[in-house]
Amino acid sequence: MVDEEIYWQDVLDDIRSGRTSALKCPFCQLQTLAVSKRERVTQVACQNKACRHYIEVGFGEQSDEDMLYDAKPIQVGGKP
Ligand SMILES: [Zn+2]
Repeated sequence: MVDEEIYWQDVLDDIRSGRTSALKCPFCQLQTLAVSKRERVTQVACQNKACRHYIEVGFGEQSDEDMLYDAKPIQVGGKP
């Protein structure tokens, strides 16, 4: 596990429990996170230009109801 993933755990927990708005970025502490889904990948990206941290997680292959349990971070990034 990458260190950065640890920072995202609280956010991922929120998303798992169905919360996808007003999420606070664990890096800049602003509520600037945007959640977007494509296929089975959910991307959470900070919209703060000075921060730009993001994480992409795969929520598994179950149906939409169950997919929120098994989040596997597949990529993290941030300001270079
Ligand atoms: Zn941020």
